Amino acid sequence: MSVDSENLVIASGNPGKLAEFQQLLSPLGLNVQPQSEFGVSGVEETGLTFVENAILKARAASRASGLPALADDSGLAVDALSGAPGIYSARYAGVAEGGESQDKANNAKLLAALKDVAEGERTARYWCVLVYLRHADDPVPLIVQCDWKGDILAYPRGSGGFGYDPLFWIPECGMSVAELSGDEKNRLSHRGRALQMLMEQFNQ
Ligand code: IMP
Repeated sequence: MSVDSENLVIASGNPGKLAEFQQLLSPLGLNVQPQSEFGVSGVEETGLTFVENAILKARAASRASGLPALADDSGLAVDALSGAPGIYSARYAGVAEGGESQDKANNAKLLAALKDVAEGERTARYWCVLVYLRHADDPVPLIVQCDWKGDILAYPRGSGGFGYDPLFWIPECGMSVAELSGDEKNRLSHRGRALQMLMEQFNQ
């Protein structure tokens, strides 16, 4: 299996994710184009799992662009909240007008939900599912999923990354994800490692 084209559409409008994909894929000679260049602003995420939603996103982006598409559906699953916010991570505190990022409100809601949960019981995982479709009707999508374990802090730390990164503590690093450099996050993260796994499949 190999990548069928040097051009690839990324089925995301999230600037944080787009920057991470560009950083990871450009060195491989892949020209990544955001779906917005083809007039796609997003699809209704009607699936109940990351994988269903990632397929929906990839199919819409591939159909609109005529290119192979890479979609990511990702989120945060907190053990003490039975896996919430899960597939609802982006819209945990509701959908902002104009679709702007709700990171601040999402983080505030998460801290409130965990206010009575003791340190040591605030374990969580980021999950990333990646789907690669060669074309919109590809019946055999490439699918990988990867997690990243951490703990939810009681207060935000750091200013890098996006989403829940200021609250996501990586014990091995002694830092929140928002305190890691972009390169370090890409090396360790659910998305970075999922992409490495996908690249390994491309090379088989
Ligand atoms: P999606 O764009 O529908 O896949 O939603 C992903 C959401 O999960 C984001 O908006 C964030 O709230 C959260 N998320 C996923 N990956 C990360 C990450 O690497 N850092 C912080 N938040 C993340």
